[in-house]
Parts: sequence; C-alpha cells; structure tokens
Amino acid sequence: STTSTIGRVLYKIKGFYYIENEEKNIFECKLKGINKRINRKDNCVVGDIVEFDPREKIINKILERKNILKRPLVANIDLLGIVFSIKSPNFDMERFNLLLLDCFYYNVKPFVIINKIDLVNNKELKIFKNSLSFLKNLNIDVFYISTITENIDTIKEYTKNKVTAFGGPSGVGKSTIINLLQNEKELETGEISKKLSRGRHTTKGATILHLNYGGYIIDTPGFSSLELPNIRNEKELLELFSEFYEYSINCKFNNCLHINEPNCYIKDLVEKNKLSKIRYDFYIKTYNTLKNERWNKYD
Ligand code: GDP
Repeated sequence: STTSTIGRVLYKIKGFYYIENEEKNIFECKLKGINKRINRKDNCVVGDIVEFDPREKIINKILERKNILKRPLVANIDLLGIVFSIKSPNFDMERFNLLLLDCFYYNVKPFVIINKIDLVNNKELKIFKNSLSFLKNLNIDVFYISTITENIDTIKEYTKNKVTAFGGPSGVGKSTIINLLQNEKELETGEISKKLSRGRHTTKGATILHLNYGGYIIDTPGFSSLELPNIRNEKELLELFSEFYEYSINCKFNNCLHINEPNCYIKDLVEKNKLSKIRYDFYIKTYNTLKNERWNKYD
C-alpha cells in the first residue's frame, strides 16, 4: 500500500527535494520517474506544495500553484516585500513601478519597505511619503524604516505566518532586513535547523527558512529586473493598472486605452490630481515601450 502526505518543498540539492510535512519533519525525496522525464527546470520548485510518499521517498504530485516567481525560482509566495532605500542608493520611481507591475503580473501580493530613513530629515521624509501616496489607492502597505536606528518589529508582525520573499535593487538593505528577521541566534534547535542550515550552505537556489515567530522567508533576494514581463496586449496591460480599471466605465469609448481618445475619464482624473500622474505616466511609457518593441514586431 502507498502512504501519501502533503508537504512543502523547502530546498533542493542535486535532484533531492527536502519536504516539510505539517509536523515540521523534513523528508528527502525524489521526483516520481514520470515527472522527472519531463525534466523541466520548473517541474518542481522550492515552495511547491506536493503530495509525497514518506516511506518510498517519492514525490507523486505537485499541487496547483498560487503563483511562481522566476528569479528566484520559487512558488506559492504570500507576500513580496519590495525594498528600496530613500537615499544611497537614491529611490528610483521607474524601477519601483516596474517591480509593482511584476507583482501584479505574477499574482504576488506586494508590500513596500522604504529603508534608510535615518539618512533624511523629517521634511524630506514627508515630501517623499507624499510621492508614494498613490500606494493607498492600490491598497499597498508601506513601511518607512531604518535597520540602524530602529527595530523592525512592524515587519515581523506583518510577515508573521506568511511566506515572504524580498525584491529590490542591490544596496538598499535587503540582506540586512532578512538577517534581522531570521535572528539566527533564536533559531529552533534540533533536526529542522540542522537540516536547514546544511541546506543553506549547499544549495545554489532559493531556500525557505523558518521564522522563529512563525512563517517562512525566502533567503535570497527576489527579482529586481528592469525588463517588462510578457504582457501580450493592451488589455493585459490595462488589467495591471487596477486603479484605472474601476473608472474606465465612464470613458466615452468602452475600449478606451486612456491615451489620446476623446472624453477619457482617466485622463480627466489625472488632470484633476485625483489619479496619480506618476502612475499614469508610467502606464503611457510602458504602453509605448510594449507597442514599439514587442506588439508591433509581428504585424
Ligand atoms: P542589499 O544589497 O539590498 O542586500 O543591501 P545590504 O543589506 O547588503 O545593505 C547595503 C548597505 O546598506 C550596507 O552597508 C548596510 O550596512 C547599509 N544599510 C542597511 N540598512 C541601512 C539603514 O537603515 N540605514 C543606513 N544608513 N544604511 C543601511
């Protein structure tokens, strides 16, 4: 007879998958032959929820994914912390918007961490916060922190019992934040942490780590690409700007792209400062890029 258990792939070493069951025991398994023959890199990835046989040490089935990131290759993320610093390196609005777009495209819930606020004064911080006020319309939470002058308990609270990955440019403080959340001194002792730390030192790919306050964290920073995801047409692009979506019904044309159509309600709202000009300009820029560099290629 076969036994079947559900578990989560925490890391991967040379064809072996390390799967944690509900009781937090770790099993070293291989993919069932038929899956292996397909031999695709994203066949079974870190973060996958799988059905496995703990006695035969075989993965029988990969359950449907909620999402999958490409860099790092990891599935079923609850949250992506988009990390930027307010200074050194300077905040980059274009890159920030690109990362947001990635989150919407890959169906990952983002939250924002603006780090290094110790490097600015109150007035500068206030002006900066204003420039990100459009996040409220998008229902995206934002934390202003400094890993030097403050503790990051708010981030701990927010990521509790979630699977969290981080992304953003280099030098903004991602590794510092990940280390503070991990707080290795307090890692559980015993089999789990022994296996996890062994995994950490030998895997090249992403590893999922336990947080001692509950939840998991991806130990490698995520995508921070400057490349647009594979958005196939105008409609797909518009869907990634959900804050425009609800008002589109008021435009004169029901297929309005909010570019230069007459009586466009979105453009009106932008002119009246009711929708963010930053977001609108980013939309137009992205639209033009996709149109010129991708969509027209095969006309
Ligand atoms: P990563 O490349 O995003 O992983 O960034 P790191 O965590 O390696 O941090 C880059 C640099 O920023 C390091 O020298 C950190 O000491 C420094 N740093 C991190 N957090 C802060 C902060 O809150 N304020 C300041 N002034 N520097 C910080």
